Amino acid sequence: MHGVAVSGGIAIGHAHLISHVGLDVPQYPLLKAQIPEEIARFEAAIQATLQELKELRRNIPAKAPAEFDAFLDLHILILSDPTLSATPKDLIKAQRVNAEWALKQQMDSLLAKFDQIEDDYLRERKADVVQVVERVLKSLLGHATLHTAGPASPELTSILVAHDLSPADMMLFKQQQFAAFVTDVGGITSHTAILARSLNIPSIVALHHARSLIRERELVIVDGSQGIVIVNPDKTVLAEYRLRQSQWELEKQKLKRLKSTRATTLDGTLVELHANIELPDDIADVKANGATGIGLFRSEFLFLNRRDLPGEEEQFLAYRRVAEEMHGLPVTIRTLDLGADKQLFGAENVSANPALGLRAIRLCLAEPQLFHAQLRAILRASHYGKIKLLIPMLSSLTELNQTCHLLAHVKQSLDDENIPYDANIPIGGMIEIPAAALAAHIFAKHLDFLSIGTNDLIQYTLAIDRTDDSVAHLYDPLHPSVLQLVSYTIKCADKAGIPVSVCGEMAGDVKLTRLLLGMGLRQFSMHPAHLLTVKQQILRTNLPELPSLVNRMLKTEEPERMHAHLARLNA
Ligand code: PEP
Ligand code: MG
Repeated sequence: MHGVAVSGGIAIGHAHLISHVGLDVPQYPLLKAQIPEEIARFEAAIQATLQELKELRRNIPAKAPAEFDAFLDLHILILSDPTLSATPKDLIKAQRVNAEWALKQQMDSLLAKFDQIEDDYLRERKADVVQVVERVLKSLLGHATLHTAGPASPELTSILVAHDLSPADMMLFKQQQFAAFVTDVGGITSHTAILARSLNIPSIVALHHARSLIRERELVIVDGSQGIVIVNPDKTVLAEYRLRQSQWELEKQKLKRLKSTRATTLDGTLVELHANIELPDDIADVKANGATGIGLFRSEFLFLNRRDLPGEEEQFLAYRRVAEEMHGLPVTIRTLDLGADKQLFGAENVSANPALGLRAIRLCLAEPQLFHAQLRAILRASHYGKIKLLIPMLSSLTELNQTCHLLAHVKQSLDDENIPYDANIPIGGMIEIPAAALAAHIFAKHLDFLSIGTNDLIQYTLAIDRTDDSVAHLYDPLHPSVLQLVSYTIKCADKAGIPVSVCGEMAGDVKLTRLLLGMGLRQFSMHPAHLLTVKQQILRTNLPELPSLVNRMLKTEEPERMHAHLARLNA
């Protein structure tokens, strides 16, 4: 099977199918004679799930949050209610359909009723109903769902096969170890794919039929560099891939020697290689790969996979920890970029085009209380290290002015309380909307630094949804318009005398390292997993050779010629 390569390397292991409730619930008609058996199957699944929940409640880990117990009680209550445990049986009888489909229909009608509830707390219990149904479906379908651990949880050699995974789902996987993951849908710069890269295991998206064609425990080879999945390989193929796998591992080991080497070009120019992180725990990886700072801390990940929001104190502790653990190296904290494909737990009323909706700075300005708490937490942490503040999705100066206004307010409140903070904390803006790139000369005058978010810049410039695999083939960092916008932004920052970095996936793509260097970029921020490969390329590069070819690329119109120029640049 061919998909879109997201993260390199080769994994060989057994498939572990993961399902998500909204998807892939089979529907098939039954003969009248099959109905009693189907009802018995449904009852058995309800009983098995009930046992599973009770078992979980008996063995709550010591570290589990206090409310875990209450949630399990609630789930047991939901499952025991006849609307879930009995009504589907009527549907099986009346419609002569399979148990999974009957349960799914009943869940949908229940969820619709929840939508009409005025009380916020009760309405949010929708998510609990979904989780309970997921468990029953798992039992009916005989394989694991995302939120269930236990014996079916992935092993070191498991290859996760899913139809779709959200960024929040991926965060759960960060705590588990497995060999690779492949999905049917998803774009190359979706946050799901970005997180997969951070796991540093081979991964592929947009395989279309992997979930339906691959069976549980089947032997699978995942070639994450080529975007190829081979199911049930024969002996020769298997031997070939085992060889390639050890070669890949050897290369990785060799790269580790570069960890402490300074990233200087052959002509002696120093390049800053910073890391992108999602959570404070990622720092171990940052250090293992020798990053000289954090160029992008995607702070919104502190807000995912939880029912409550982290308050000021909790955020402060997280930011302070990162600042302290980086020992004076720069830590760029991006303010909340929620919205689009990163929705809060149980989020409702997601707009039809969330990527164009109330996302990132727009959301923060619309929710000043939320923003205020975060700004206070970041400023307080700035006393403990070298923190820089980065604003996502800026499109107009008005948003920047409003943010600065709020920031002044926050500083005043800290002054009033005699709480220390870095009064000169640098404020930067993400250039990731074409409007901002075209107005980079304006933003550069008002900001201390710029950071180019090429993932969104490409999404918005080429009008391709990052998460939609049907347009993944149109993702093109070499599109002339993208190159113009990136190059123009770098020029504007240089002219204004402020630092500029690229923190989108382009920064970690070694094929593009020389191109960006040739445009004048001296600061890159990427997932730690890519750092040493990019450093190796920088060490082999002679800067004075680049500009003439890069300038030619900026004038190139034909895609084929563009690729030929790039090949020459990298030769
Ligand atoms: C980007 O858009 O390039 C970026 C770095 O931010 P994110 O991927 O989190 O949207
Ligand atoms: Mg972005």
